[in-house]
Amino acid sequence: MYASPPLAARIAQLDQRIARACEAAGRERDSVTLLAVSKTRSPSEIGQAHAAGIGRFGENYLDEAAAKQEALADMDLEWHFIGPIQSNKTRAIAARFDWVQSVDRAKIVRRLNDQRPDGRTPLDVLLQINVDREAQKAGCAPETAGELAARVAEAPMLRLRGLMAIPSAENPPERTRAAFAEMRRLFESLRADHADLDTLSIGMSGDLEDAIAEGATMVRVGTALFGPRRDAG
Ligand SMILES: *Cc1c(COP(=O)(O)O)cnc(C)c1O
Repeated sequence: MYASPPLAARIAQLDQRIARACEAAGRERDSVTLLAVSKTRSPSEIGQAHAAGIGRFGENYLDEAAAKQEALADMDLEWHFIGPIQSNKTRAIAARFDWVQSVDRAKIVRRLNDQRPDGRTPLDVLLQINVDREAQKAGCAPETAGELAARVAEAPMLRLRGLMAIPSAENPPERTRAAFAEMRRLFESLRADHADLDTLSIGMSGDLEDAIAEGATMVRVGTALFGPRRDAG
């Protein structure tokens, strides 16, 4: 056992990595948003991150997220759902989250739109793309993204913001970089039909520099922020 550096130090380090990557890419620092991935983290860890200035949190599992949202209800946090979506969970997801980054099929589009509670702003949506075409992975095939984007765009209670991808964990770094470049091209091509798309969510703890070089506007960071996860995931 060893003590990992305190949260404030990890946040400062992460902020510096993002700033350097922006500089290297000739981009403004504020063109990249940080999403703190808080799966497996306690409400107290999320509260500490919030106290250190982080306001957006990503969760993969509905039940785990719901418990934390209850515990942290008095904080003004923005919640992003980033895990695979079972259709029997869409009602709770549509009620509990501000963004859903893992929309990958028409049935989910329909249900989230129908189940977003009345009086709420439209749910911000990213389409998850299975960029490395992995058999077991969530996400739609790149060539079906245009069709699915059209479905989201016509849904009044959804707001299409862009694309998300998780490249294969088996990739060598150069393949992940190429996958990010493919995502950027797909994002640009969708913008021909959907001019207000503004979010390309690619890049995690291990590859955020490459993602920023390829145009990421959002990076989803867990371990580099909170330290190693206690589970395997
Ligand atoms: C866990 C997870 C992350 C964060 O991964 P780290 O390597 O810990 O930064 C990002 N995106 C998704 C969808 C995840 O499930």
